[in-house]
This record gives sequence, C-alpha cells and structure tokens, in this order.
Amino acid sequence: FATHMKENEAVSDFAMEKSIKQQREYLPVFACRQRMMNVIRENNVIIIVGETGSGKTTQLSQYLLEDGFGNSGMIGCTQPRRVAAMSVAKRVADEMGVEIGQDVGYAIRFEDCTSEKTIIKYMTDGILLRECLGDSTLEQYSAIIMDEAHERSLNTDVLFGLLRDVVAKRSDLKLIVTSATMDADKFADFFGGNCPTFTIPGRTFPVEIFHARAPVEDYVDAAVKQAVTIHLGGMEGDVLIFMPGQEDIETTCSLIKDKLGELDEAPPLAVLPIYSQLPSDLQAKIFQRAPGGMRKCIVATNIAETSLTVDGILFVIDPGFCKMKVFNPRIGMDALQVFPVSQASANQRSGRAGRTGPGQCYRLYTERQFKEELLISTVPEIQRTNLSNVVLLLKSLGVDDLLKFHFMDAPPQDNMLNSMYQLWTLGALDNTGQLTPMGRKMVEFPVDPTLSKMLIVSEDMGCSDEVLTIVSMLSVPAIFFRPKGREDEADAKKEKFQVPESDHLTFLNVYLQWRQHKYSAKWCADNYLHAKALKKRAQLKEIMQDLKIAIKSTGSEWDVVRKCICSAYFHNAARLKGIGEYVNVRTGIPCFLHPTSALFGMGFMPDYVVYHELVMTAKEYMQCVTAVDAIWLAELGPMFYSVKQSKQSRKEMRMESVRTVESMEEEMKEAQKEMERRKVE
Ligand code: ADP
Ligand code: MG
Repeated sequence: FATHMKENEAVSDFAMEKSIKQQREYLPVFACRQRMMNVIRENNVIIIVGETGSGKTTQLSQYLLEDGFGNSGMIGCTQPRRVAAMSVAKRVADEMGVEIGQDVGYAIRFEDCTSEKTIIKYMTDGILLRECLGDSTLEQYSAIIMDEAHERSLNTDVLFGLLRDVVAKRSDLKLIVTSATMDADKFADFFGGNCPTFTIPGRTFPVEIFHARAPVEDYVDAAVKQAVTIHLGGMEGDVLIFMPGQEDIETTCSLIKDKLGELDEAPPLAVLPIYSQLPSDLQAKIFQRAPGGMRKCIVATNIAETSLTVDGILFVIDPGFCKMKVFNPRIGMDALQVFPVSQASANQRSGRAGRTGPGQCYRLYTERQFKEELLISTVPEIQRTNLSNVVLLLKSLGVDDLLKFHFMDAPPQDNMLNSMYQLWTLGALDNTGQLTPMGRKMVEFPVDPTLSKMLIVSEDMGCSDEVLTIVSMLSVPAIFFRPKGREDEADAKKEKFQVPESDHLTFLNVYLQWRQHKYSAKWCADNYLHAKALKKRAQLKEIMQDLKIAIKSTGSEWDVVRKCICSAYFHNAARLKGIGEYVNVRTGIPCFLHPTSALFGMGFMPDYVVYHELVMTAKEYMQCVTAVDAIWLAELGPMFYSVKQSKQSRKEMRMESVRTVESMEEEMKEAQKEMERRKVE
C-alpha cells in the first residue's frame, strides 16, 4: 500500500510540474490574449472585464512583461486585500520560475518583499496610494493594473481620482482597470468615456441554486449540516463555505471535524480555513491537492469571493453575511460589523461553484430574503467609513478642496466633515481646514491619525521609545494567542504580563520582557505570544528617524506614558458609571470593560479611562484601555473637556468648536455647489 501511495504521488507531482504551462494556457484569458493585447497597445486606459478565475490577476502582468513593458519601468498591480497581493505574487513567481522578491515581488503595509530587480510588483492599493505622496506621477511605473476594481475599496476609489490626473499628464503610462462584474461602463465613463472595455469570454458551467425554505437561525450550524450532507452524499467535488470572520471560520471547521468524527466510516475530508490572519503556509494549503486526493472543504472569508480562485470547487455554501467596516454615527467611529451581503456578492459567491463543472450553491437564506432584504450591490467603502486617513493624504497631496476632488462616488458630506473635525481636534488641520505642520508629519506614518499623533507628541513628553513600542503592538492584529484546548494555560501566561492600570502598558511590558530574552522566538512561543510586532517597530522607528523625532525612554516613569496615550485618545474617554460600566464623556454612550482587559476584575476601577476602539458584540466593549487622570483630559483635550471652568468659558469653548465646524461646512458647501455646476456642464 505504501509503495502504491508513493507512486501515485510521484505521478501527480510530475503532472503538476509539467502542467504549469498547460494550466496557464487553459485559462480563458489565454484564448483572447492577442486581441486583448492589441487593445492594450492602442489605448492608454483600458477596462478589462472577466469572470473570477479567468486569469486577469496572474496573467495580465506577465503578458505585459512579455510585451516589453518591463523595459521602461515597473508593472504594478494593486489588490484591495493583503492576502491576495501576497498569494498572487507567489503564484506568478512560481509560474515564471523565479524567486519571490526578485523579479516578482509584493509590498503590503509593514512588509516590502521587493528588490532592485523587481519588475512585476503586486501591492495593496494602500501602498500605491502612499507611493503617490513621494512620486505624484508614479514615474517608476510603465503600467499599472488596478485589479478588483469592482470591490470599490476606499483606497482604490481614491486612486481612481488620482490616476485620472496622472494618465492625463503621462501618455507613456498604461492604466488597466479590471473588474469581475459588468459595471465597466461606470469605470469607462469616469475616465472620459472613450476608453475601451475588453471582455474576456467566460467559460463557466451552470450552477444550480438552492435557497433555504425558512430563515435560518444559526448560520454556522446550518452550514456545518449542509457541508456534512454534501460530503456524505457521494457526489464528487470540493466545497467552499463563506463565513464572515475568523471566529466563525474556526468554529465551523471544528464542528465539521467533530460531526464527521462521531460517525463510523465517514470518508476523510480536508477541512481548510482561510482568513487574513492565518499564517501564510496554512493559507497556501487551500491551493494544494489534499493528501490522497481527499475532498477539500474550504471555509473562507470574503477573500474567496473574487480575490482568490481555487480550482475544483463544485459546491458553495453561502450564509449570506460578511464583515464590513462601517462608520457608526452612534459611537462616532468605524466599527467592524457583520452585515448581510448584497445580491451582487451572493451571485459572485454562487459563481464560484461553476468554474470546473456544473455546480451547486446552497444559500442559507430564503429566496424572499434574497429579493427583499439584500441590497442590489454593496455600498462602496468610501461612502460608509471614516475618511480621516484619506483627508490627511489628499490634503498633503495638495488637494485643498476635497469636494472638488474627482470621486467616482462622492462620500457623504457628513462623513467628510466628521473626519475633518476629528483631524482638527488632533491638531492636524487648522481652523480653515488647512494641513498644519503636525498634520504634515502625521501623514508620513502608515497608521491611523490617533496613533501617529501619539508618536509625534511622545517626543516632547520624553517617552518616544515606549510609545513607539506601544504603537507597533497596536498595529499588529494580535499579540496574545489562545490555542484551542490550551486556553487556560494561555490566559495564565497572559495574566503575568498584565499591568493593572493599562492594556497599553501591558503591551509595553510584554515587549520589554521579550527584549530581555533577546527576542527569542522560543520565549514567545512558550508565553503564547505572536512575534510579529518587531518588524513594524523597526519600520516605524525608521520613519521617526527620518522625521528627526528623537527616540527617548522615560525608564520606569510610566505615568508619563499614560499621559501621552491620553493626549491622542482624548476623544475616546469614558467615565465610570457602574461596576465595569463606563460612559463616553463626550457622547454619553455606555461602554464596557472587555473581559480580556487588564483592568477587568482587578478590583480596581479607575474613574476615567481612554480606549483604543469600541467593538460591538453583545455590548459595546472598549478594546485596549488605559486609566487616566481627569485633569489630563482637561489639559489635553480642551475643546471637549473642562474640569474647573466657569460656565462662561465652557460655553465659549463650545462656541469655538461650533464655529470651526461651521466654517468647514461652508467650505464643503461651496465645493458641493461647484460639483453640481460641473455636473450640469
Ligand atoms: P482572476 O484574477 O481572473 O480571478 P487569477 O489570475 O487569480 O484569475 O487565477 C487564475 C488561475 O490561477 C486560477 O485557476 C487559480 O486557481 C490559479 N491560481 C491563482 N493563485 C494561485 C495560487 N496561489 N496557487 C495555485 N493556483 C493559483
Ligand atoms: Mg483576480
């Protein structure tokens, strides 16, 4: 049996190796390569539409290279998602038989895997946007592919506006916009109407769609049942399940394994998760053949909707939800929340079942829900999120009047104002909406304005070394991990690091101990810590040095560090109201200590705290909390708080902030009118 297995594997390995060329030639885009390249040669801006999996992302860059575009500059390809940028770059490097980071590379925030030699560069749209800051006409590039434009991510939308001007200035730049859906006309119109659309003829199989007969109560449960039914049903083909986020994905995976484990003689099934925080070697597994050719069941976030294509999927299970970042006016900031998908998304998802043969899609919602409750298409990110970073970036690119900026879909005026207001309170904009020297420095950091502000003020407070550490730790998704089955052990380790008055200082403590242990990977593993923050710290440190911000340590004076934290987060301040219950000082909204916070259950409840963000689950929980003095709030956020002020001056202060908002509103209204005028013309 053992030899038999080996032989089999050897045969299939050989088949895989041999077929990279064949795989490339089998893609729909290959069949129309010459016609498509002719259109590209003859035009500056081209819209390319093709079904997911037709080869847009992996082939276009190579075709451009083979056509000589690499001679006069780099070929850049933007992706809205980090995982896609990395995974696709690796695939292209494999196809070309080169090492990743050499001729083919990628860049995502805090990770630059390119070199002098790099000609094909995959990157997140955020990276290209930042490159515009240093090189406003993108001279390094001979061609730019704006991939996944249908996704309408915030950064892609801003890039649209900027690149529209760049192509007007540079006749030698090729701009290719790709989309998996048919909204190409909108893109074509945006670039002046006379840019051609090329459609890659699809090769798709019919997908039979089944809706739930009644609304489903627990979509994880329902998805697990459906997956098991399919697996035991005897039909061949891999399964793809969509889930909104990591937690649901992990639960789904373990429930499927449990269910099959309970059965005698259930055939083996490779259950494979994929989400952005999964280590990349595990991410790669979804593309590999499972051992012994067993069936794969991939449980994925939205990433598998159009960004990544896995061959062999014949069954899709779609609960109809995704996670989205949405500005929540109640709490005055963005929150990641679970929402129903749009009809367009649901149709993309079902399409994933018909790439290699006739497939089936199980929707865990009723047909009526589909028709009546789902939006036709997803609201573009620019219309639903906080725009502080975008405002800061555009202002520093010299776009003074933001409503005159050419947006494909303009953001709501309220969002824009709110973001400008936040930047004003942070001191990044002055009363007339102009960028201040502080704002100019802030834009250099690839982090949220709150965090860049903290880094900048830390210099004067003499604690930049500590704040640099804290901000690095806040920029990585997780520091502590809790593996399944070893939760208690992990929690016990974590408790040893906790600084009772602050989660931020707890991070600092972790880092300092890690440093004491010479950044040992083993020490990290033993203490259930992710070691990722180190790289980010190095990058942020470099930016600080470029800006000539001195890096100083306060030693053991951690109160200063807390005060510095307070100076950046004063808009997220809360006052104690009951046990574990706080209210936001500005808005009066209740918010709670999260059970994972160092302040939770310490028998000590500070009167005032600031927090990094609110997460909305069952309640509004404050994430990453630090105890502060009321007096600091008054000192550092005078436009919001006053401890001992006469009524008169408090009123004056409120008037002052009202006046500021009004003058900004004026500016916006003027610009709005200008836009209307242009539309009429
Ligand atoms: P599109 O961008 O049009 O959706 P892609 O270029 O992403 O299409 O995909 C083309 C093919 O390349 C698909 O068949 C897909 O399975 C394969 N592919 C893409 N990335 C990888 C990867 N990391 N490993 C293996 N195959 C991949
Ligand atoms: Mg693609």
